Amino acid sequence: MSISSQDPRQSLIDASIDAEMQRINIGTTGNMSLRSGGGMLITPSGIPPRDLATEAIVSMDLEGGWLGDFKPSSEWALHSAIYKARPEVRAVVHAHSDHCVALSCARLDLPAFHYMIAGFGGDTVRCSRYATFGSPELAEATVEALEDRTACLLANHGMVTVGSTLAEAYGRALKLETLARQYMLCKAFAEPVLLTDQELVEVKQRYKTYGRQDAQTA
Ligand code: 13P
Ligand code: ZN
Repeated sequence: MSISSQDPRQSLIDASIDAEMQRINIGTTGNMSLRSGGGMLITPSGIPPRDLATEAIVSMDLEGGWLGDFKPSSEWALHSAIYKARPEVRAVVHAHSDHCVALSCARLDLPAFHYMIAGFGGDTVRCSRYATFGSPELAEATVEALEDRTACLLANHGMVTVGSTLAEAYGRALKLETLARQYMLCKAFAEPVLLTDQELVEVKQRYKTYGRQDAQTA
């Protein structure tokens, strides 16, 4: 499936439908947004992806202002706080994928058990401190956990990824859930051996020349 529709509203719907097909979100869990002018386009609150039409995607400013028949996602403040704190970010994906949720309920960072962890910008993918869903405190905790990273876990809740495009942020969400699952698979029979600082330095060096000319790391 493609989420590169020319219409940004349609691309949010396509990615939300795919997220349910990939089972990183079920029904109304999770939400997505795209930076748009000085504000953002965001999925509406409490509507499953299969029921979404482009009119339901909410255009809003970063202070919570919106007009129309559809209420923005209850996590609009989290999305907005990320756009304010991180000028390079143009898309945000939030999901309740099983293995990320499981780790987040134990409030564990995802450590460098696999080299791809470094693709999210650091030696771990952090787990945020706990805050109520939809609260300004959760928005603040998320920005903090995302510092120098393109992904984080949300305590007792799920995960967030960011990117310079929706395809990039969404691709990172799929990768993060896969890595969380692989970490737990290893944890089930042995204690994973973590990469050393020096090994991670070499991974980061290698990532600088990895992949397509126009692509970034994980
Ligand atoms: P919304 O349906 O309001 O986007 O909420 C889903 C969610 O994941 C809240 O954290
Ligand atoms: Zn959520």
